[in-house]
Amino acid sequence: MEKMGKRFQGKVAIVTASTMGIGYGIAERLGLEGASVVISSRKQKNVDEAAEKLRARGIEVLGVVCHVSNEQHRKQLIDQTIQKYGRIDVVVSNAAANPSVDAILETKESALDKLWEINVKAAILILKDAAPHMQKGSSVVLISSIAGYQPQGSMAMYGVTKTALLGLTKVALASEMAPNTRVNCVAPGFVPTHFASYITSNKAIRGAIEERTLLNRLGTTEDMAAATAFLASDDASYITGETLVVAGGTPSRL
Ligand code: NAP
Repeated sequence: MEKMGKRFQGKVAIVTASTMGIGYGIAERLGLEGASVVISSRKQKNVDEAAEKLRARGIEVLGVVCHVSNEQHRKQLIDQTIQKYGRIDVVVSNAAANPSVDAILETKESALDKLWEINVKAAILILKDAAPHMQKGSSVVLISSIAGYQPQGSMAMYGVTKTALLGLTKVALASEMAPNTRVNCVAPGFVPTHFASYITSNKAIRGAIEERTLLNRLGTTEDMAAATAFLASDDASYITGETLVVAGGTPSRL
């Protein structure tokens, strides 16, 4: 990993919900490629531990507590980034919640509110705060889900919020933030993280998911980080408004 290219040298990247799982993997990848990374999540202890782990890999890192639906936290995230680094080149909006496994018509109003608040509204509000600091050549990556293409079963309403991110990417935010900032999206397949453990730790369900892929395996945080780093980098400088499905060939869309 230490021998990888340095596409983000001199750049500053904010990754939300990045003290473990996919967000951590993305922060690590961007950092190993030269970015100063700003990591965050709800718990100070998680922020401190993740920052230490990244520093041990030689990465320049700022850790900030940020519950994405807390206005004050979002403001601190941006303010502290600007105070320390003076610029924002990349924002990866990665936070999500899945508070209910009920059918949509059975889902409590409070759960519907939380899904909208964290999975969609907070992503918009983070970008609203960050946008004035994003210069020419900057880029945004939203983390959606394969479930955004086929919202169903116990993940139906969560999936619909991820469908909203596909819409935000194409064309809404991409056109609003053009030409200075590109906006793209990654739709991961299943990755055995804490978030997905209720699904991936069940042997039968895990097997069924693996069978739906063409590559016969679940995804890894590294798979998601590599795709995100590509879209965030200048290698993707003529790509905006796109979603990259990183799901081992799981059916999504043409
Ligand atoms: P994860 O491993 O469970 O990690 C979640 C991270 O988010 C932790 O760092 C957690 O730290 C933080 N977090 C949780 N709620 C937060 C909030 N409200 N505000 C700020 N930080 C918060 O999850 P993951 O699987 O990597 O998921 C990351 C993203 O990938 C999500 O958008 C998810 O929808 C998407 N995704 C995941 C999969 C999958 O199979 N894993 C598939 C498709 C899409 P604290 O507890 O300290 O807050």
